[in-house]
Amino acid sequence: MIRLTHIDRYYDSKFQRTFVLKDINFEVNEGEFVSIMGPSGSGKSTLLNIIGLLDSPSEGRYELYDNSVLDLKEKAKVEYHRNFMGFIFQAYHLIEEMTVYENIETPLIYKGVKSRDRQAMVADLLDRFNMVAKKDLFPQQLSGGQQQLVGIARAIVGKPKLLLADEPTGNLHSTQGEMIMDVLKNLNREGMTIIQVTHNERFANYGRRIVRLEDGLIRHDEKQMEARV
Ligand code: ADP
Repeated sequence: MIRLTHIDRYYDSKFQRTFVLKDINFEVNEGEFVSIMGPSGSGKSTLLNIIGLLDSPSEGRYELYDNSVLDLKEKAKVEYHRNFMGFIFQAYHLIEEMTVYENIETPLIYKGVKSRDRQAMVADLLDRFNMVAKKDLFPQQLSGGQQQLVGIARAIVGKPKLLLADEPTGNLHSTQGEMIMDVLKNLNREGMTIIQVTHNERFANYGRRIVRLEDGLIRHDEKQMEARV
């Protein structure tokens, strides 16, 4: 599904070149659940952003389903974002002026889904996440865990094949974090490919594969037969 080959990401300043990622060779197959770990500044978010077409590498190749995607025009990248990828962020990034319902519905409007279908799809997710009673509330009226559930609902309402999560539990208490990880685990069981960045060893174990970055290099890439959690 995803193939990164000889990916470098560096920044040039007057006197020196600083590498954030160095010669990353990384493949992800459909249906995997990968956790990316590593110290702060090791390049995790940069790697995730490159995979999500939010950042471009300085060197290297990136193929999604055998199609090279680095030279795509902005419009084609937006199409990938709309139809293929979902994003979850540590800081939720919900729209404060919109209700829970509207936040979840928004990507479907951009995607051109008809009003009646939108209603059904949002209702399904509200039901699945036990948030029917909260649908008319605004993000600030929810707990962190509930806000992240809305973040996930918004990310998956368009049924993406690939879900990218950058520290999805970073702002949550451990029980709320566990609830979010259980949601991700179930989505993966249903077939969604998931790549998450996390600092939390325990939550990393929800993945079936742990990739450890250090100074922009992949130091370990360990597949597990079964998720340990
Ligand atoms: P992580 O997610 O592992 O904490 P990041 O991918 O966010 O790491 O960042 C990796 C490194 O890239 C950081 O050390 C950061 O300072 C560096 N970096 C990011 N943007 C720039 C930039 N514009 N110029 C120079 N260095 C940058």
